[in-house]
Amino acid sequence: MHGGMVAMPGRFRKRIASIDSGESFVNAFKQGDGRRVAVVGGGIIGCLTALYLHRLGANPIVLEKGDAGRESSWAGAGILCPIHPWLYPDSFTRLIDASLALFPSMNEMVEQLSDLKTEWQSSGMMIPLFADDRIHHRDDALAWSKRFGWQVEELDRQQSCELEATMSGHVGGSLLWPNVGQVRNPRLLAAIRKALEICHVPIREQAEVIGVGKNGQGDVASVVLAGGERIDTDAVLLAAGSWSGGLARQIGLELPVEPVKGQIVLLRDEPGKVKHIIKHDDVYLVPRADGHILVGASMERVGFEPGTTEAVVNNLLEATYRITPGLKDSKIIQQWMGFRPGSPDGMPYLGPVDGYPGLWVATGHYRNGVALAPGTADLMSRWIMGEAPQVDLSDFRVNRPAVNIDKVGFPTA
Ligand SMILES: Cc1cc2nc3c(=O)[nH]c(=O)nc-3n(C[C@H](O)[C@H](O)[C@H](O)COP(=O)(O)OP(=O)(O)OC[C@H]3O[C@@H](n4cnc5c(N)ncnc54)[C@H](O)[C@@H]3O)c2cc1C
Repeated sequence: MHGGMVAMPGRFRKRIASIDSGESFVNAFKQGDGRRVAVVGGGIIGCLTALYLHRLGANPIVLEKGDAGRESSWAGAGILCPIHPWLYPDSFTRLIDASLALFPSMNEMVEQLSDLKTEWQSSGMMIPLFADDRIHHRDDALAWSKRFGWQVEELDRQQSCELEATMSGHVGGSLLWPNVGQVRNPRLLAAIRKALEICHVPIREQAEVIGVGKNGQGDVASVVLAGGERIDTDAVLLAAGSWSGGLARQIGLELPVEPVKGQIVLLRDEPGKVKHIIKHDDVYLVPRADGHILVGASMERVGFEPGTTEAVVNNLLEATYRITPGLKDSKIIQQWMGFRPGSPDGMPYLGPVDGYPGLWVATGHYRNGVALAPGTADLMSRWIMGEAPQVDLSDFRVNRPAVNIDKVGFPTA
């Protein structure tokens, strides 16, 4: 059992109510049926969905094999825009747009509940264009932006260098999306976690789920933890990030989610030295308000191989110095890595599982799990509570054939 459903403390209920005039939260804290939902995985997808489930009157519990919010969701760069969104099907852009539309209200909710700042900000994003670019994005990027209403500006060389003083003089021009945002992942995760605690949603750490039990009717009715403990539940949400494929296999499901390792280097310089997210073929820079600059990220299909490597770190730094030579003297602070939950076509798996009543999946968010988190949490919480989506989500269904593999799927090298 998850333990009894605990009422939301009055002052927090009031805080939420005050921001729930926004469309996405109109039904906050409605009297749900107290449905028990075992959420497997304490990353951003599992934790945020648990918070949204709680809002809808469910009785969720987060089960996490290690420490919550320490895997991909901690390691990521927090760019709130896909890497080259024009390479994906339109259904993906619609999902991203819907999710980003919920970001402000989600952020306000977790900041108010937790009294923590996530450092969500709209820093804008620039793609500098060089004559020897490996991928020439200009035309596709402009067409995509126009079609989906993403404000974009074309800058010439001088404007690009004026806006970003560290930029190489070889730049031919750039594209600038002034409204693209970013968030500081560890801070967002800390705020979501505290919000869950404030709402008395249990987070059980060091609790590895190894199986799922069914009742006499064939409905999912429990999860089994390593060590043998069984937790009764009405529904299970599989949100185990890169480990989802392995866990799915353990319960007899084929789900082709596997880790794609990404390494990041952290630089430090004067605050404001880099103003926008800068994205190029081999590298992106994400400037934080305090002068930290994240340089990412490799795409490696090496299983769960831990640790950073000198070769990758050097590649990231070389690319940085080539694009933005003005950062040559920035201090190198540290390196880290994370395992993106990769899917063959770069798109997440969202929804119920055929033949497993009560089993739900929200995983495979690959390079975009932070940007997609509010949309995923909103969609999945409503769906699990009985509100079927009104939009066509067949491109994200669990047993879909992979599409678009060559463009945004698993790395080949
Ligand atoms: C280097 C890098 C850069 C990135 N940059 C961006 C970006 O700029 N923008 C963006 O939107 N996204 C980015 N991402 C992707 C994003 O971080 C992920 O898509 C997202 O964090 C996935 O969240 P998740 O909750 O599914 O997975 P995770 O955060 O990995 O969480 C899954 C959790 O499940 C737990 N778990 C696994 N198996 C079990 C089990 N059997 N029982 C219990 N618990 C289990 C794990 O311990 C883990 O804590 C980046 C990722 C990386 C690595």
